[in-house]
Amino acid sequence: MLDRPPRDACGVFGVWSPGEEVAKLAYYGLYALQHRGQESAGIAVSDGSRIVVYKDMGLVPQVFDERVLESLDGHIAIGHCRYSTSGSSVWENAQPTFRPTATGGLALGHNGNLINTRQLASLVGTATGPAGLTGTSDTDVLTALFADPAGASLWDSALAKLPLVRGAYSLVFLDEETLYAARDPQGFRPLVLGRLSRGWVVASETAALDIVGADFVREVEPGELIAIGESGVRSATFAPARPRGCLFEYVYLARPDTTIAGRGVHAARVEVGRRLAAEYPAEADLVIPVPESGTPAAIGYAQASGIPYGQGLVKNSYVGRTFIQPSQTIRQRGIRLKLNPLRDMIAGKRIVVVDDSIVRGNTQRAIVAMLREAGASEVHVRISSPPVQWPCFYGIDFASRTELIAGNLTVAEIRESIAADSLGFISLESLIEATTLPAERLCRACFDGDYPVPVAESERGKHVLEGVGAAGARP
Ligand code: SF4
Repeated sequence: MLDRPPRDACGVFGVWSPGEEVAKLAYYGLYALQHRGQESAGIAVSDGSRIVVYKDMGLVPQVFDERVLESLDGHIAIGHCRYSTSGSSVWENAQPTFRPTATGGLALGHNGNLINTRQLASLVGTATGPAGLTGTSDTDVLTALFADPAGASLWDSALAKLPLVRGAYSLVFLDEETLYAARDPQGFRPLVLGRLSRGWVVASETAALDIVGADFVREVEPGELIAIGESGVRSATFAPARPRGCLFEYVYLARPDTTIAGRGVHAARVEVGRRLAAEYPAEADLVIPVPESGTPAAIGYAQASGIPYGQGLVKNSYVGRTFIQPSQTIRQRGIRLKLNPLRDMIAGKRIVVVDDSIVRGNTQRAIVAMLREAGASEVHVRISSPPVQWPCFYGIDFASRTELIAGNLTVAEIRESIAADSLGFISLESLIEATTLPAERLCRACFDGDYPVPVAESERGKHVLEGVGAAGARP
């Protein structure tokens, strides 16, 4: 079986803009964030007195059409596209979640993964009686937590409850009148604020601001709650910031045209490639990327090494985004569903192939075999991240430690396992330097096992609440 790529927990988008078709803005914002979640998509809108949520399984353009978007009338909207890292991939867990409150309603979208979900669920039970949760995700617990039974405003309730929440969360939520956004004190996942001519936008990535024509204003700060309404933007710090942004966003998760903490992701990836060439040079005729996430690092590798850059693998971008199960004959084609070699480019050449990461190793083994089959005389694999040795508990679903090839094998053993002529991973120091951020501002736990927020054994790998809704499992 081939690897599936690491899955991000989600993309979130929010807009407050009277006079605009906010559902359509949310649609385009989600379209720009589709890479962050491809299992389900949803939009909630409010017209000031009523909240309507529309969500379904599938890609953003599969879930929404013109007719649906036109029925979502209002001046505030939040949107969400999802991969499941907590709870199963079922409609009930699609977001935004909705919950009636003592004063109206609350809809919420979440990117990240909480690490004290059980504790929070018991608080919800204490505060409201039977939790009545319909889904199995940490997001349902969060939504229930914010819906204050005594009728406190959503601002007051969120300010009081957010300090109790541990783990990774970039949130967008709304009530009838106000758009809210919040980010955990570590700021694991990105979240930015943008300005429209007639309103405001919050989004997981700056690329989503660009697509709706919003100007970047600033990041939502770690530990910050903001509310956007008639009187503008209101901000409060609910916990001191201890920034530890996710290093893997720079490697793979974020779009190359996004900027995180002032650093362009594409530029960081090219710089990693340059450093990779210095750390692991190769005698070769051609540098090729594994498209598309390996492309910027391959460009950097070629620039620094002087080895020509070229395309050697063609990606079918739409495979893996279909809900049609492949037939047995098609499934046996394995990686050929996703990648096809350009024989004319490869035959007789010593190839450096650059990829972003190795998770289980199956993909790289298949790529090496495919390149040899296409006539490569040597295959040198270069990886633009250090070995992924530890699982992520903050919203990225890699695999368990036993499934991670680098959790069990040395680099020499991995080289042998994937049958490459040579193998080099960028050093952690070089990857960090390429981000231009100091190491202490970054989470690097999947590479070095140093978890910024300790995760109790009971929460590790048990992302599904027992006794709450239907049973689910990590995909
Ligand atoms: S463990 Fe890795 S993937 Fe998870 S937040 Fe930290 S750096 Fe990102």
